[in-house]
Amino acid sequence: MTRVILAFLFSASLLSSAERPNIVFIFSDDHALNSISAYGGPLKDVAPTPNLDRIAAEGAIFTNSFCSNSICGPSRAAILTGKHSHVNGYVDNNNSRFDGSQTTFPKLLQKAGYQTAIVGKWHLVSDPQGFDHWEVLPGQGSYYNPDFLQQEGGRKRYDGYVTDIVTDLAIDWLEKERDPDKPFVLMCQHKAPHRNWSPALRHVTLFDGIDIPEPASLFDDYSKRSKTLGEQAMSIAKDMSWNNDMKFHGENLFLEKFTSEPDNGEYARMSEEQKKAWDAAYEPLNQEFIKAVESGKLKGDAITSWKYQRYIKDYLRCIKAVDENVGRLLDYLDESGQAENTIVIYSSDQGFYLGEHGWYDKRWMFEESLAMPFLARWPGVIKPGMRNDALIQNIDYAPTFLEVAGVEVPATVQGKSLIPLLKNTVKSEEWREAIYYFYSGEETHQVAAHDGVRNKRYKVMYFPDTEEWNLFDLLKDPSEMASVHDDPEYKEVLEDMKVLYASLRKEYHMSEATVPAERLKQKWWAERHKAKVAEAAEGGHDIVFIGDSITQGFEGAGKAAWKELTDGKNALNLGFSGDRTQEVLWRLMNGELEGVDPKLFVLMIGTNNTGHNQTAPGETADGVRLIVELLRDRSPDAEILLLSVFPRGEMPENPLRKINDGINTIIKDLADGEHVHWLDLSGVFLDVKGVLPKSVMPDSLHPKEEGYRMWAEAMASEVERLMK
Ligand code: CA
Repeated sequence: MTRVILAFLFSASLLSSAERPNIVFIFSDDHALNSISAYGGPLKDVAPTPNLDRIAAEGAIFTNSFCSNSICGPSRAAILTGKHSHVNGYVDNNNSRFDGSQTTFPKLLQKAGYQTAIVGKWHLVSDPQGFDHWEVLPGQGSYYNPDFLQQEGGRKRYDGYVTDIVTDLAIDWLEKERDPDKPFVLMCQHKAPHRNWSPALRHVTLFDGIDIPEPASLFDDYSKRSKTLGEQAMSIAKDMSWNNDMKFHGENLFLEKFTSEPDNGEYARMSEEQKKAWDAAYEPLNQEFIKAVESGKLKGDAITSWKYQRYIKDYLRCIKAVDENVGRLLDYLDESGQAENTIVIYSSDQGFYLGEHGWYDKRWMFEESLAMPFLARWPGVIKPGMRNDALIQNIDYAPTFLEVAGVEVPATVQGKSLIPLLKNTVKSEEWREAIYYFYSGEETHQVAAHDGVRNKRYKVMYFPDTEEWNLFDLLKDPSEMASVHDDPEYKEVLEDMKVLYASLRKEYHMSEATVPAERLKQKWWAERHKAKVAEAAEGGHDIVFIGDSITQGFEGAGKAAWKELTDGKNALNLGFSGDRTQEVLWRLMNGELEGVDPKLFVLMIGTNNTGHNQTAPGETADGVRLIVELLRDRSPDAEILLLSVFPRGEMPENPLRKINDGINTIIKDLADGEHVHWLDLSGVFLDVKGVLPKSVMPDSLHPKEEGYRMWAEAMASEVERLMK
């Protein structure tokens, strides 16, 4: 309801471009709340951030702001789309590539007349889309003398320090390329303070001679929580490298205390003069450390404490440059007279461990890496000094920006516009009961897969590999040192949190059937995928069939029927034997639709979800739903013929048959009377008693020639009708 009213108030047609505010989105990488003084953490006095604090003082600070998946790429994809990782397809940093063909907020803002630009870190593998201007770092980018990918192709190297250069590029764009007749959105995205925490040369001696306070859990023993905590490889004690992280030169002298890989590529990029300044700062301290360890003066935990100091100082030095550059951008907006009509937001793709639990890095659903900073200034709208504890998440940013621009928020967006919170028209308690979090468990740093929900008081986490639940009472144990999942006093709380967990997974269509999955280790599958991507890229297809072995069989037993059905049409067969909904989702977001924009999709999928592990019908149906939504999003003008999952098992009481029937009962409602059309073909194959004859499907699953002929005939008229 609120959304409808606001959409009306902000309707693009009612507002001239001058009245639609500009958006400056300043974004950093791995910025922990504990290193922003406005959040009041333990480092606020030793390492204040006056410019970030200025945004908070002149606007709002959100104290319960969280990511949906605590790694770089996934958080960025969630921000662009307003959708959780499994829906936008960017699940982890290892196997993912952002499917840029999907709808994103920059594309929609661009369409609504905004000028759109992004400079700095992108980190989504595929090129940015939806931007009038972009100049981004390749992959992680470099701290010193960085290269930038150019919109027109190629790279350009800039001398200097990356945080300064990203800000220069942002201000340059505002100064020289912005169209004063249009509102704009500018995403200014920093590499800092990402590992390996390389400071600007003007900051290399900052904090020298000062002891930064250690977090109380620096020597955490990981007891009383999931046993997977002890398996991670992100600890300051064990997993800091000699060269890259700790900035020593030469051979690793203490193999039991430091890892040896990789070398410090940042050092290698510097000019001789830069190296000199860098060495002058680090080398005397390095030599002092080596001497102290060799003489036995420094040992055991004291070495970990030394490493913590080296790490935290470099991290805070990086933050110092971020803060200075935020100040520069704010000053530019003031001086150019744009501050009044510009929303400024500061955030970071996720938080980070600054030694808490003995860690650096992120990934876990624990507070330090789950949290994202969120500071927002909007003169005349946000009351200065506002502090808000509503549970907000990165999936909320896209709908917020859309509403600012008066653009209708697509129904498939999972986040909620924050405007009612920014305007203070909705109370924090009325906002959202809990947030959902998911981490896939990629190999890097060996953090186990887990997901969970957090409300204002409690957090429940589930670890599927070890089938463990953890429960934290954040009021009594804000540092999350002991799970109370098996404490009888929390029995009811745990039950309630499990109910909440199940309901949020349902709300976000989250299950095994909806998390995109590939089978690239199977050679035939990888090769077929590659061939289909190439076939898709040729373009010009009128009709595309999507499914599993039953669809693939049109290339075998169904060849004659296929020929008749697709006669005179350019048809593409995207059927893969053994695929379930999750593999189809992965394929469609990894190239098999690129170049494809047909008149008609024919979709039948789900029987392998049933066959492999008897997935509940509701979950498989959610997989089908996400496939349909994806096709609607990528090809909004195409028709979709959604087929019932074929009957399987000879007899009607076959349990797998019943599961497929259950899927059909749900997915038939995906028909929308416009572009999605339901066709139930069960009756075509079954006899009057519901028996599936062996003559039609000898294995009670796959049609043979006769079966394909019956199938093709049964859908021929619908195919003809929908392709007119
Ligand atoms: Ca990050």
